Amino acid sequence: TISADFTTDVLVIGAGQSGLAVGYYLRRAGLSFVLLDDQPAPGGAWPHGWDSLRLFSPADASSLPGWLMPRPPADDSGFPTRDAVIDYLTQYEQRYELPVRRPVRVAVVRQAAGGFSVETDVGTYRARAVVCATGSWRNPFVPQFPGQADFGGVQLHSAQYQQAAPFAGQRVLVVGGGNSGAQVLAEVSRVAHTTWITEKEPRFLPDDVDGRVLFTQATQRYHAQAGAAAAPPATLGDIVMVPPVKAARGRGVLGSVRPFGRFTRTGVVWADGREEAVDAVIWCTGFRPALSFLADLSVLQPDGRVATAGTRATAVSGLWLVGYGTWTGFASATLIGVGRSARATADEIRAFLNLSQTPTE
Ligand code: FAD
Repeated sequence: TISADFTTDVLVIGAGQSGLAVGYYLRRAGLSFVLLDDQPAPGGAWPHGWDSLRLFSPADASSLPGWLMPRPPADDSGFPTRDAVIDYLTQYEQRYELPVRRPVRVAVVRQAAGGFSVETDVGTYRARAVVCATGSWRNPFVPQFPGQADFGGVQLHSAQYQQAAPFAGQRVLVVGGGNSGAQVLAEVSRVAHTTWITEKEPRFLPDDVDGRVLFTQATQRYHAQAGAAAAPPATLGDIVMVPPVKAARGRGVLGSVRPFGRFTRTGVVWADGREEAVDAVIWCTGFRPALSFLADLSVLQPDGRVATAGTRATAVSGLWLVGYGTWTGFASATLIGVGRSARATADEIRAFLNLSQTPTE
């Protein structure tokens, strides 16, 4: 038996920015819902970001629906810190009285009469609709190279990276050509001898634009795909030239090389056969969706994603996925972009609940 306290119309799994944005629109629609999050405190993935992490867009271009992120003090760089984002998400949750239960870890989602039964470490929830908003930080992706298991040095994913100090004086490989790679390289290269490894030549945005341009580009692609506009121009680049990355360029350490061939016990062997000793490798190689609790629904594809139309799972009725990136909505893995997906999701859920029958108790 499932207690009334554990029965709701909509269950949102994950209360990071994506879950909160969905909660904002579910509340506006007057629906009964609960958010479950396995962390002890608010903020989703942000408390796990590295110490010096800053947003690459100003506060007012990094906001969830309804309430703008407060601007940092005027003497600041204008780009909010990790802790400012955590404060914002903490206050957002309180401001809209979002019913978050934490720490509650979802283990398995199953189909049941009238909807879903959701097993957690505190008991089983029953819901008519389920929204997954679990992000990806707990599922870091590390590419595999021959000899990797025998490499005796340190290997760390950017998901675990905190600060440069432990690498002082070491020979460090930073792998990955996105914003995380550029920013970790910029910081670690101040204290260590670094080599930046990227699959292709990194593409830097012009100095005078910030992360807002990435959002504008994503919006153009969204409208073009919807047939409402001409195809957008080719993208300008991927890497935002935040001050530490500009400084790294100034120090001449922003050059990159293509990947090595294999690991040895003490380092790596490059494509030309040259061996090099290495103390540590920092993998800035991205993430995969954190959705293993959906295994019982048989919707997980080999790449860890789920087939969706917009944010709605196509194979299972009553299931939505929000905030995972382009495949669940353009720019949906950003603070400003997730609102659009969240709103459409709440609209669909309201229509779905109106049509579907109340579960039989
Ligand atoms: P998360 O923040 O990961 O929240 C998901 C929550 O669900 C977490 O609390 C997690 O613990 C919980 N959860 C997971 N599994 C379960 C489970 N089984 N049961 C219960 N709870 C569970 N975006 C911007 O807009 N601007 C930026 O400048 C920017 N910079 C970034 C820099 C870095 C280095 C990174 C990694 C990302 C950056 N992003 C930025 C992207 C984006 O904002 C984040 O990835 C964001 O955290 C995604 O939010 P989310 O709510 O979807 O997921």
